[in-house]
Amino acid sequence: MIEMKNVSKVYGNGITAIHDLSVQIEQGEFVYVVGPSGAGKSTFMRLMYREVLPTKGTVSVGDFDINEMKEKNVPFLRRQVGVVFQDFKLLPTLTVFENIAYAMEVLEKSTRQIEARVEEVLKLVKLEHKTDMYPNELSGGEQQRVAIARAIANMPRVLVADEPTGNLDPDTSAGIMKILETINAQGTTIIMATHNSEIVNKYKHRVIVIDDGRITRDEEKGGYTYEN
Ligand code: ADP
Ligand code: ADP
Repeated sequence: MIEMKNVSKVYGNGITAIHDLSVQIEQGEFVYVVGPSGAGKSTFMRLMYREVLPTKGTVSVGDFDINEMKEKNVPFLRRQVGVVFQDFKLLPTLTVFENIAYAMEVLEKSTRQIEARVEEVLKLVKLEHKTDMYPNELSGGEQQRVAIARAIANMPRVLVADEPTGNLDPDTSAGIMKILETINAQGTTIIMATHNSEIVNKYKHRVIVIDDGRITRDEEKGGYTYEN
């Protein structure tokens, strides 16, 4: 599903964030990305949704060759790769419904299709009763659930989550994990960066450790106890 071959990423300021990294992730996997701050985790994930381009090496996601693809096809890639952030990034002037619908309108769906799908994803994250509320009327956990609903509205094959529980308390984080596991069980590949060792050790999945732009460990499900 996702393949990186000998990828390096050097930012404009000369910092090498990713260093000759190769990895393969299959459709349907759930992968944690862990490692110290500044190790390159966010950059590793930004390469997957073409927020940054590799300086060297090749990245492919599904049928997309990140290096070679045309700019005009980026919206098609983004339909295949949903993204969730630590700080939710909901649009504050739009309701829950509108935040999700907006992500779909970009893809020219009919009003009826959009309404049906918004209802479906809100049910999945158990927020169907908050459809007309604004982000600032919701708790952090609820906002993250809206962000997840928005990220999966277009039925992406991959969900990239950059520290999705970073701002949430343990109980709320557990709720987010259950939702991510449900989405994964439906076949969506999940790549999740996290500093939360409790989550990594409780909900066992493949663990990729990144340090100084390199993969220093890559352990199958349950094979690794991660210490923060
Ligand atoms: P992590 O997610 O593990 O904290 P990042 O991928 O955010 O790591 O950062 C890796 C390195 O690249 C850090 O040294 C960071 O300062 C640098 N970096 C990240 N984004 C940029 C950017 N847009 N421009 C320049 N340097 C960046
Ligand atoms: P996160 O905490 O989610 O990993 P970062 O702190 O890496 O996020 O990045 C936040 C924003 O700042 C991003 O848009 C990133 O591109 C930018 N950025 C991060 N580090 C640097 C840096 N050293 N120089 C310039 N921009 C950076």
